[in-house]
Amino acid sequence: MNFQPVSVQHAEICEEVRKLCARFPAPYWRACDRERRYPSEFVAALTEAGYLAVLIPEAYGGAGLPLSAAAAILETIQAEGCNGAACHAQMYTMGTLLRHGSEAQKRRYLPEIAAGRLRLQAFGVTEPTSGSDTGALRTTARREGDHYVVNGQKTWTTLAQYADWIFCLVRTNPEARKPQEGISFLLIDMKTPGITVRPIQTFDGGFEINEVFFDDVKVPVANLVGQENKGWDYAKFLLGNERTGIARVGTSKERIRRIKEIAARERRGGQRLIDDPFFRRKIVEVEMELKALEITQLRVVARERHRSPGTPDPASSILKIKGSEIQQATTELLLEAVGPYAMPYQPAEAGSNEGVIGPDYAPPVAPTYFNWRKISIYGGSNEIQRNIIAKAILGL
Ligand SMILES: Cc1cc2nc3c(=O)[nH]c(=O)nc-3n(C[C@H](O)[C@H](O)[C@H](O)COP(=O)(O)OP(=O)(O)OC[C@H]3O[C@@H](n4cnc5c(N)ncnc54)[C@H](O)[C@@H]3O)c2cc1C
Repeated sequence: MNFQPVSVQHAEICEEVRKLCARFPAPYWRACDRERRYPSEFVAALTEAGYLAVLIPEAYGGAGLPLSAAAAILETIQAEGCNGAACHAQMYTMGTLLRHGSEAQKRRYLPEIAAGRLRLQAFGVTEPTSGSDTGALRTTARREGDHYVVNGQKTWTTLAQYADWIFCLVRTNPEARKPQEGISFLLIDMKTPGITVRPIQTFDGGFEINEVFFDDVKVPVANLVGQENKGWDYAKFLLGNERTGIARVGTSKERIRRIKEIAARERRGGQRLIDDPFFRRKIVEVEMELKALEITQLRVVARERHRSPGTPDPASSILKIKGSEIQQATTELLLEAVGPYAMPYQPAEAGSNEGVIGPDYAPPVAPTYFNWRKISIYGGSNEIQRNIIAKAILGL
């Protein structure tokens, strides 16, 4: 196994990604947030350079690199202070198509995804009445000749408003003995009549998540991925991949760098906060946890080659738990570093020329703190990850 950090294993790629990220500095991201828009220019630049297609085999227009290369690219994007959410979705969501799709589906969709002409970025699992208990999902796909007719609702669907296509879990057999057995995986064109997307505002004022309604939506049977009623197995694989990315080592590194920078400017009790031994100790503890997470991520990524294709790695649950806990801990430290300046409510409205109360780094701190509680929920809550670890790793 290669235990060098992924950024060292793929140093040349990381250097190029770093240069590309430098073209999108903080004001670009602040404008995207303020104007609530998709970072099209950033995603286009990464696509053009081929970085979002590294996991797609060369035969389908990608670079055919290992998971470690994708992890290195995402880590660099995050560490440079750019938003990797859309990149993560574009890189990983196609994984199920690659592993379980038919040859015809791969030839049709993968080159389009690699070229950035098709955004397959949304994954519809959660419904208003089924979250952790996915087997209780109610969205149905009724077979009518060469089509399915889909009816139901998904919720909390990330990036659905920007996606061209959605991967959707639907119930195709309501009579199945076990709830998970009657579920199938459909690729659905978001422009199909009968689909309505309603964005949900998050704590930080953003609109990355949505409700998605399906009202007699006709989906060709050719868009079924893998076998009918086996969708739950494919979804587990996709969620495993997603969790690997949720570790966000790069984001936490960047956040810790920022905490140190702010703590060097903030004063408490007549001294710089960075010189306060209690605060220093908190930073050290988080950094140690982050180092351990980075090594665990290396192990998971390196094991990819030894797993049978298409099977999830339960160790990705460890990355999800520790990664989300560390990210939340960094938002807490940032809140502590900014102190009372984090308290005023300062909405970042587009076009507003109102001055900021406190230092310019203060306004996003509290909204980010509250919004990032979501990290231990999405991608399967941390409690569910503990259940997976108990069963699949500890054999309990
Ligand atoms: C920001 C964000 C983005 C999201 N993006 C997507 C997306 O793109 N696509 C998508 O399909 N979904 C998405 N989700 C939904 C997310 O996956 C669900 O919220 C999550 O699975 C939990 O489901 P729930 O909210 O219904 O909570 P519930 O399942 O009702 O759980 C409530 C609480 O009970 C606990 N709990 C439930 N069952 C058990 C159990 N068996 N053992 C122990 N504890 C348990 C949970 O951990 C949680 O604390 C997103 C959610 C958020 C917040």
